[in-house]
Amino acid sequence: MAVGSELLTPFRVDTNSLFITERLNTVGFDVRLKTVVGDNVDELSALLRQSLTWADLIVLTGGLGPTADDITRDAVASVLGLPFDEDEATVARIRERFTRRGMVMQEINRRQALVPRGAALLENPNGTAPGLWMEHGKTAIVLLPGPPREMKPMFEAVLRDRLAHLGGGFGLFRRVLKITGRPESEVDARAQPIYGPWAHQEVPISTTILAVLGQIELHLTATAASAEGASRVLGPAVRALQRALGDDVYSVDGSALEEVVGAALRERGLKVAVAESCTGGLLTSRLTDVPGSSGYVDRSEVCYSNQAKIDSLGVPASLIDQHGAVSEPVARAMAEGIRKKAGTAVGIGVTGIAGPGGGTPDKPVGTVAIAVLSGTDARVRTFQFVGAREMVKFQSAQAALNMLRLMLKPSAADGAS
Ligand code: ATP
Ligand code: MG
Repeated sequence: MAVGSELLTPFRVDTNSLFITERLNTVGFDVRLKTVVGDNVDELSALLRQSLTWADLIVLTGGLGPTADDITRDAVASVLGLPFDEDEATVARIRERFTRRGMVMQEINRRQALVPRGAALLENPNGTAPGLWMEHGKTAIVLLPGPPREMKPMFEAVLRDRLAHLGGGFGLFRRVLKITGRPESEVDARAQPIYGPWAHQEVPISTTILAVLGQIELHLTATAASAEGASRVLGPAVRALQRALGDDVYSVDGSALEEVVGAALRERGLKVAVAESCTGGLLTSRLTDVPGSSGYVDRSEVCYSNQAKIDSLGVPASLIDQHGAVSEPVARAMAEGIRKKAGTAVGIGVTGIAGPGGGTPDKPVGTVAIAVLSGTDARVRTFQFVGAREMVKFQSAQAALNMLRLMLKPSAADGAS
């Protein structure tokens, strides 16, 4: 149960439950219900009473703060009919935390030290509010603070110390293959004959295909008694799909495309410079989302107008006149220009029509030319993306990253040497 009125607005989304359900699955809990409820004692109490009739475990996050709208503790205690005791050690710890930051603890913070009688306190290394563990009949109840960076380590500790042995000894284990550069239908046509029979083998693997923008994910799930047991089944399955899908699989360990590209650049000791037009800096933003990217990203320029391409990147005006700003020769000249300026081994140029205006019959909206240069190797391609403006931008960045990834991949010849 995600508690917090802000989670019922369009401005905040409950992400805690994604983490919690994933972790619960790994120890074999079958998640039957998840809810988002506002900071309201009546609704929360009703929901709790109902869930107590059938659930073995109820996890609540949020609403453990010191203010009057933080009602989770009150609702749970009143439903279970428990009085509160103030925990002196917790008051001292909260006061100490304030003192260390040169602040004075306010009286209302004492609320966070109120413990329903019989509850166990769960330590919060990253915040003031401790969590609570309670048992009522056959149901265990866990209360955790809302902020994800406080909640996550606390939930990990509860999972390890109190929940792992309750889950029935079997867990759901998942592997994710990430694929780009090929439509979903083609991926499934190749993959289905391989994963189809796995659903009926001795330890079945269930497979889900998930297409998101510019990327396809294959989720393989198996039930096993241990991580090792799961690996024995899922490991060969992942390898079989990798063989069938070849270079289109860019990650089998959850890493993002920009991380894979970053690792390849680092490994090869290469630095990259980027010249972006239609992506407006998105490609560089994604490259620099990766910690440590200063080790291989040299610079980037957004050259949106023709004049900027001419002035900053040395793209010849005649080239733009002759081929148009969205063309392979211009993308290549952009990549060459930025690479020369930066003195890097790798240069990327992206130019396209993100729309909704600006399309022509021979260059419709979604036409994007991308050039990637690495040493003496050059790849230049024109793509035709569909979708709204931001979708074209994202797919352009995705395609540029993927072109670079494929270029940096050790070739068969390298492997043989
Ligand atoms: P605090 O002591 O920080 O007040 P709290 O337990 O009262 O802790 P909340 O006030 O409910 O927590 O939430 C604090 C912040 O944590 C919210 O602003 C929200 O952004 C984030 N948060 C709360 N619940 C969730 C959730 N289910 N998913 C993602 N973020 C959440
Ligand atoms: Mg709150």
